[in-house]
Amino acid sequence: MYYDPVETMDRAALENIQAERLRETIEIAKRSPFYAERLKGIEPGDIKTPADVAGLPFTTKEDLRGQYPHGLLTRPLEDFVRLHASSGTTGSPVAIFYTRKDLDTWADLMARSMFCCGCRRSDVLQNTSGYGLFTGGLGIHYGSERLGMLTIPAGTGNTKRQIKLIRDHNVTVLHIIPSFALYFAQKVREEGYDPKDMPWRIALIGAEPHTEEARRKIERQMHIKAYNCYGLSEMNGPGVAFECEHQNGMHLWEDAYIPEIINPETGEHVAEGEVGELVMTTLRRDGMPIIRYRTRDLTRFLPGQCECGRTHRRIDRISGRADDMMILKGVNIYPMQVEQCLMTMPEVGQSYLIELIREGVSDQMRVKVEIKDEYFVEDMRALQGLQKRIAKNLCNEILVTPRVELCQSNSIPKAAGKAVRVVDLRDKE
Ligand code: ADP
Ligand code: ZN
Repeated sequence: MYYDPVETMDRAALENIQAERLRETIEIAKRSPFYAERLKGIEPGDIKTPADVAGLPFTTKEDLRGQYPHGLLTRPLEDFVRLHASSGTTGSPVAIFYTRKDLDTWADLMARSMFCCGCRRSDVLQNTSGYGLFTGGLGIHYGSERLGMLTIPAGTGNTKRQIKLIRDHNVTVLHIIPSFALYFAQKVREEGYDPKDMPWRIALIGAEPHTEEARRKIERQMHIKAYNCYGLSEMNGPGVAFECEHQNGMHLWEDAYIPEIINPETGEHVAEGEVGELVMTTLRRDGMPIIRYRTRDLTRFLPGQCECGRTHRRIDRISGRADDMMILKGVNIYPMQVEQCLMTMPEVGQSYLIELIREGVSDQMRVKVEIKDEYFVEDMRALQGLQKRIAKNLCNEILVTPRVELCQSNSIPKAAGKAVRVVDLRDKE
């Protein structure tokens, strides 16, 4: 079952649509001051196939910041009805403007995405994202209503009330960020309920990098099916790529975006199936189209056809942001490698934090790890043994031995939105 016939369209027809929409996009984009300049000498007619996108210039986050607030708008301000801003995880924010038509397209993509992982109009969705500038609030909300689900805009915080809403209204679909999900499962148990008895069946998890191990842990602890969903404000927000029931990579909606994967150093396409930086061009954005946007997100195209029958290519889960990379003793390390290792250890609780510290003249990594209550015993020798084991497992994964600090559950502070996984204390301690 599909939401939109375009999901299973054969590749040749899909590519025709892409080429047509790319020509349109170039024409529209050139009405903005930024692209009028950036696309000088480039004409819609230059595009014969979607692969010709590779001849266009990149757009970076710095470009968007430099054009703040109105430099990419293709229409007078009065034609816009909504503004979002990226959550500013990495530096100053960027504002994204939507016309009514853009909101409509986005809601459709969102509804299609949720349908793709099994949501139906008879479902009840509770959205635990903040309803602010963050696109995970209103973006999910409008998509959910478009699909016809009863939609509960619970917002963040007040876990007790969230749990009551879920139980009172038979919530079957939960939108929750992965770093909050495990904490939430624990709260449910603390309230005296078994997650097994909760009415939910589907969790939409996204907005921040997380590993397959973290997903499985969420599924086990919440008794739920958790589907990865990917998006970013610059490309509308959530609903860019979504998992189907096979949970094997995320279908990226190629009638709305042209994806490319490049080597972030050279800007060239990587070989098919290799990991690189995801670059995307909007094909259905009217008010603020963006061409070859460098997301900084690292992923790869998954080979082969998905059993679900959708023809849109799948990307692998995001393994991190190019800016997340840490270099320690000459070794490149990503936070998700640490998570992957920790989440396979049964003693490890919900949260962890990576601190970069200075020891003498060299840099060192300290990993704070929350340990489940039942393992947080008074036996010093047992704890030291556990600490050593964690350090050793981490070393096997990241090739340097970090300092490991064991912490009690809930002792690592939680961010209000996306989790902060790394703090740099090198000039502070
Ligand atoms: P910010 O860049 O300030 O966090 P956004 O709210 O637009 O702004 O977040 C988009 C970013 O969130 C993406 O570029 C990506 O890094 C991350 N992200 C979103 N969904 C996922 C996901 N499913 N897996 C990993 N990372 C994700
Ligand atoms: Zn599929």
